Amino acid sequence: MTKQMKAEIIAVGSELLTPDRMDTNSLFLTEELNKLGIEVVRKSIVGDNRDYLSAAFKEALERVELVIASGGLGPTEDDVTRETVADLLSRKLHLHQEILRYIEGRFRQLGREMPAVNVRQAMVPEGAEILENPRGSAPGLWLEDAGRFIALLPGPPRELKPMYQEQILPRLQRRGSSIRMFHRELRVAGMGESSVEQRIKAIYTRYAEVNTTILAAPGEIQIHLRVWTDDAAHAQKTLDEIVQGFEIALAERIFSRDGSSMEEVVAGLLTRNNSTISAAESCTGGLLAQRLTSIAGSSSYSSGTHSDERGR
Ligand code: AMP
Ligand code: MG
Repeated sequence: MTKQMKAEIIAVGSELLTPDRMDTNSLFLTEELNKLGIEVVRKSIVGDNRDYLSAAFKEALERVELVIASGGLGPTEDDVTRETVADLLSRKLHLHQEILRYIEGRFRQLGREMPAVNVRQAMVPEGAEILENPRGSAPGLWLEDAGRFIALLPGPPRELKPMYQEQILPRLQRRGSSIRMFHRELRVAGMGESSVEQRIKAIYTRYAEVNTTILAAPGEIQIHLRVWTDDAAHAQKTLDEIVQGFEIALAERIFSRDGSSMEEVVAGLLTRNNSTISAAESCTGGLLAQRLTSIAGSSSYSSGTHSDERGR
């Protein structure tokens, strides 16, 4: 089996530690890395603090071969990713004339003079490859160090996403392995998390190579099975076996085998059987009807609702 690349993501920015901002970059990156068979084993969110950031990079580089960071490449004092990583890897920063001219040009186009602080964005650690950023002023950086890869990407998603697609993806594909992720999802209704666990534990614990997660969600329990391997046939066979075991253990409690929601499953059944449905609701404020009609094309099976306000 070819070796699987494992990755960590570091989201940098004190704003991400407030209740106002979410780290969405790591969700995008995780989805993209998974497509390449790269497993994300850990994510961290670190404020704009050199000590914490340095420690986060140091630890990540001890664990995995690929560390992708987003944010902290801005021009202001609080953006410290570039300097922190250069320091940690003992690489000198030098002024990259071409980047400087590019940034000056961007400001000129806007009819402004480049503030002196923007010079920081043209500083490049020794040996780093430049990831051009036509959508912003901060270029990204790609570094290789002792067999590990480090990508430093800008924080704004509209800059990070295309930079990943255009410049990180091809680099990772060149180093790609044939490992892929194989995934199954079952959804169960009418049972609690621990009852599900009781019925299926003896089945899934027999497969050490399969990562099984049981998740409680509103009105349902989800069971996720994931296996990372370069042997697709074996993966499918193993997952089939486990699912067959679950079918027996959970029987009619399983309502979804492909990740589809309860309303999608009900809509499918109604459409296939040429049936329609109407809801008379009390106390639910029309919730049942709302869910039934939330599916595109629901008018073909939904024939009116009645919500009894007195029930509230
Ligand atoms: P930067 O100047 O590179 O630190 O990034 C600044 C902007 O990027 C912030 O104002 C955020 O809006 C956005 N940003 C930074 N990190 C993330 C993240 N992990 N997820 C989503 N947006 C982010
Ligand atoms: Mg920042």
